[in-house]
Amino acid sequence: MARVLIVGAGLTGSLCAALLKKETARPLHLVVWDKAGDSGGRMTTANSPHNPQSTVDLGAQYITRTPHYAKKHQSFYDELLVHGILKPLTSPIEGMVMKEGDCNFVAPQGISSIIKHYLKESGADIYFRQCVTQINLRNGKWEVFKETASPEQFDIVVLTMPIPQILHLQGDITNRSSTGPMSSSEASLTAPFFRESTSETFIALGFYNTY
Ligand SMILES: Cc1cc2nc3c(=O)[nH]c(=O)nc-3n(C[C@H](O)[C@H](O)[C@H](O)COP(=O)(O)OP(=O)(O)OC[C@H]3O[C@@H](n4cnc5c(N)ncnc54)[C@H](O)[C@@H]3O)c2cc1C
Repeated sequence: MARVLIVGAGLTGSLCAALLKKETARPLHLVVWDKAGDSGGRMTTANSPHNPQSTVDLGAQYITRTPHYAKKHQSFYDELLVHGILKPLTSPIEGMVMKEGDCNFVAPQGISSIIKHYLKESGADIYFRQCVTQINLRNGKWEVFKETASPEQFDIVVLTMPIPQILHLQGDITNRSSTGPMSSSEASLTAPFFRESTSETFIALGFYNTY
């Protein structure tokens, strides 16, 4: 069974894991590593140490469905609405400029509940406090190094952290001349890299939101 590592347990990593589980015909062993102590990334929900019922969303606060997204991704919104993870935002927000046809949603259980939902659906093995530092190609497999513990080998690696953080990684993946030079301003672009010379795949994904 192919071993797939997804680096990053934010929205991109969690949704990628769920889609790989749902859409691929062959069974995959999915593993997610994140350097943080919990899932969410820039969609993290923090609990008060004094009252666990009291939460605050750090980063994203609401999700905007534009008419374009509604056309392309309605099934994603429907799934999250059916599970009660998203609810339409009905309260007015002072200063918010709404475009015609836009609809905003909030996550009553905290914005990170979206990520937790996708991670659960994926069935992936999830490990926190795993900071990836270096990726090398060794005998046809990707050898992934982390700050702590020994490196591990995978058939496919998907990087979902922001591109500036990808650029800090060491190892063979720094040889990505086929994609051309990148600047940190491309951090919010989806950027796929494929190593065509091998059967192994290294992909970098980014999630872009309009909000
Ligand atoms: C202040 C703020 C407000 C925002 N408000 C909104 C909003 O209202 N609505 C909206 O739709 N969007 C909003 N966004 C944007 C939204 O949060 C992001 O588009 C989305 O969360 C990005 O998800 P991601 O998974 O692509 O990246 P991230 O959430 O950044 O996930 C990347 C993950 O990779 C991990 N990682 C990084 N480097 C390594 C490494 N070397 N090894 C292992 N793991 C690593 C990180 O810990 C992180 O968990 C906001 C963002 C910010 C910062």
